[in-house]
Amino acid sequence: MHFDILTLFPGLFESVFRESIVKRAVDAGLVSIAIHNIRDYAQDKHHVTDDAPYGGGGGMVMKVEPIILALEDILGAELIARQKQTGEIQVPIILLTPAGRLFNQEMAREFERYGHIVLICGRYEGVDERICELAVTHEVSIGDYVLSGGEIPAMVIVEAVTRLVPGVLGDMRALIEDSHASGLLEYPHYTRPAEFRGLQVPEVLLSGDHAKVARWRRQQALRRTWERRPDLLKRAKLSEEDRRFLETLQQQKESPEAEEACPHEEREGPAH
Ligand code: SAM
Repeated sequence: MHFDILTLFPGLFESVFRESIVKRAVDAGLVSIAIHNIRDYAQDKHHVTDDAPYGGGGGMVMKVEPIILALEDILGAELIARQKQTGEIQVPIILLTPAGRLFNQEMAREFERYGHIVLICGRYEGVDERICELAVTHEVSIGDYVLSGGEIPAMVIVEAVTRLVPGVLGDMRALIEDSHASGLLEYPHYTRPAEFRGLQVPEVLLSGDHAKVARWRRQQALRRTWERRPDLLKRAKLSEEDRRFLETLQQQKESPEAEEACPHEEREGPAH
């Protein structure tokens, strides 16, 4: 998997990419990352990369030429033009912007499948719109809030995509069980000690009964998702048993006395 990142602040990436999973993936040759300083592509002698907006208003706008020249240097003008003309994408050119589509796990999987993506980090008021018209294939936001630059959003995407590259995670089960991997939030985790300040680890996790543990985890994942992100349940893959469990939760909510009649729930929850 190769990432090209266009930024005015290359130094911001240094410590993040020199630690932990991304570093290990790079060292293992599974991932490569090239950071490109947009300023290097500014043609004038002062290397200016931004200018005042046409039409007035506050702030500055990132200029079109340096970013287009950088993209053409990295990918070639022909590929960029062809992608725009045909809509057939070989290398996604992703602009980070709060006005983009919300990034999620499904998008991370889509980007990983391409094997090569380009990330453009905006600054100031953002980039000249003609960059989108000429080259950008995806406009992506990491959340409904505004940051000062696209560098942290780019790091978020690099990390989420890197985790999906085969061989990067030692234990591939994480990819199946992580929150959002199956459309649900993940169940809670515990490790030693079995008791801390009066709080016990749920009995079922100490039972050694794998089927019971799996059932408890599934129910915890369903319960968490139902409580915190019910919107996700509309798209999650659910079995008949899952649906019955969710119906029970709903009934309990509507009439708490029905709790006694709950035949489906694995009872051994965490001690609080
Ligand atoms: N004026 C822009 C707007 O209202 O859409 C916001 C510009 S923001 C201050 C500067 C840059 O930070 C953006 O060009 C973008 O690259 C990045 N950015 C800020 N928030 C972001 C978010 N939620 N997701 C992705 N990128 C973001």
